[in-house]
Amino acid sequence: MKEEKKKKDFIRQIIDDDFAQGKYSHLITRFPPEPNGFLHLGHAKALCLNFSLAQEYAKRGFETFCHLRFDDTNPLKVKEEYINSIKEDIHWLGFDYGEHCYFASQYFERFLDCAKHLIKERNAYVDKQSTQQIKKTRGTLESFGIDSPYRDQSVEENLQLFEEMLSGKFQVEEAVLRAKIDMSHPNLNMRDPIIYRILNIGKDEDIAKAYPMYDFAHPLEDAFEGVTHSLCTLEFENHRPLYDWILENCPISCHPKQIEFARLNLTHMVMSKRKLSQLVSENYVDGWDDPRMPTLSGLRRRGVSASAIRHFCEDIGITKFNSLTESSLLDYHIRNDLENRVDRKMLVLSPLKLVITNYSGEEILKISNNPSRDETREVLLSSEIWIEKEDFSENPPPKYHRLAIGRTVRLKGGYCLTCTGMKKNSLTGELEEIYCEHIPDTVGKPAPKDVQCKTAIQWVSLKNAVDIEVRMYQLLFTESAPDKIKEGFLSCLNPDSKKILFAKGEPSLLEVPSGYQCQFERIGYFCADSKDHIQGKSGVFNLTVSLKSRWKKK
Ligand code: ATP
Ligand code: MG
Repeated sequence: MKEEKKKKDFIRQIIDDDFAQGKYSHLITRFPPEPNGFLHLGHAKALCLNFSLAQEYAKRGFETFCHLRFDDTNPLKVKEEYINSIKEDIHWLGFDYGEHCYFASQYFERFLDCAKHLIKERNAYVDKQSTQQIKKTRGTLESFGIDSPYRDQSVEENLQLFEEMLSGKFQVEEAVLRAKIDMSHPNLNMRDPIIYRILNIGKDEDIAKAYPMYDFAHPLEDAFEGVTHSLCTLEFENHRPLYDWILENCPISCHPKQIEFARLNLTHMVMSKRKLSQLVSENYVDGWDDPRMPTLSGLRRRGVSASAIRHFCEDIGITKFNSLTESSLLDYHIRNDLENRVDRKMLVLSPLKLVITNYSGEEILKISNNPSRDETREVLLSSEIWIEKEDFSENPPPKYHRLAIGRTVRLKGGYCLTCTGMKKNSLTGELEEIYCEHIPDTVGKPAPKDVQCKTAIQWVSLKNAVDIEVRMYQLLFTESAPDKIKEGFLSCLNPDSKKILFAKGEPSLLEVPSGYQCQFERIGYFCADSKDHIQGKSGVFNLTVSLKSRWKKK
């Protein structure tokens, strides 16, 4: 964002107040992803918030850190691939956790100490009721829960049973450890929540079978690391009493402050990892880094820069209310970032041959790379060029200012041309080529006064045009809130979300490296694909964003 003074969001207010009241002398935040998928735009919002806070308060002279902590408390879902991609994405976004990369699994011994402490203090018990029974006796918002028959077991018995849970004596769902709080608490999360459950993770007899639940592990992880402000999304708001209860009842002195903020939801996208993972595993997209995915790796492959994402996150801000953000706002920031930075090139998506009948020579034209910069490139003009099929009409509709017989357009950076005729295939009736005459002395000069010339079109010489594969992407879903569709989010997949076109482009497009970004005049911003574009051999470009909003018009 520009340097305009924005009102402080409520989280920055709280931290300011905490500092003003002398509650803290330093700030520690954390980003705690579960390594069960790739990071998406929602994570970017949380990342930007946590890391930016550390940066901002450091600038104000406080000691600050932002930790990266992998929440690997459920080993069934963790994959090395996810851990590596998460680290890569954080660095790519421009953030650095330094030495502060932690894993929840590092704390397993300390979790156990806390669990045993709770048992000894009569604040936890092993429940051998079935999962179903536990659910059934939990009660509802209207009715109290019912105490478990195991609730008043002796401390010795509980310690013994808990050891058995850990050593693999129980099968999945045969026993759980529950915090002993209050079965008639108005907040359901406080009705003796489960804090350890049994997971069947392998055959190794040595592997402990009981694993801590998120609600138990998370506050402890924060406290072990000395986190001062633990920022999470709104759905954890009514878990906060439990967060605080765990910290008050375990033998630790640090008590981080949990603060909730609204998730990022974007129109025409899904953001849950479960759904994104399904799109990948069922081949609706070409992997986690498919340019249509809202993942950071997908956006990167599409050609979106880290700074565009950071600006977008700054722009949406931090609130307490869940809402749906227009994905066109993201597009706006993507365009904004590219507009003055990248070069312009000419490319024709659906080539139509144009012959300049009164031009026999060849010449090198100097064409501007970007109107915001004083830079040109050399482009060869010869008598046969490719233009966009759409830029010629046999029966021009009203307000059509492109080519039609008798009409004049300008070639970008070149002459004005007047269309004189066309040729169709005698068998199929298909348009084969069109004929034009150039108006001499119009390069860089206005058209003669008596000639109407309102549009400039892109073109490439037949003689040196190169073949380029262009991947045109659109939003993955046709509905603005795919999560809300009764038939399921897969029912509104956009069948046109990916189209491959074989285009003709300026020869330099073959010489650029993967990742190269440019604007194809009059089409959009593109990026040479990081996997399939081979410099000097095969040109493959992804649409990053079109020049105009595709959806707003509708
Ligand atoms: P998902 O539902 O996609 O699995 P998650 O919350 O389970 O998301 P985590 O890996 O646990 O994913 O999230 C790491 C951090 O990112 C958490 O602090 C979480 O609050 C935050 N986060 C996840 N999704 C969003 C979102 N859409 N908007 C803002 N923050 C998010
Ligand atoms: Mg999660």
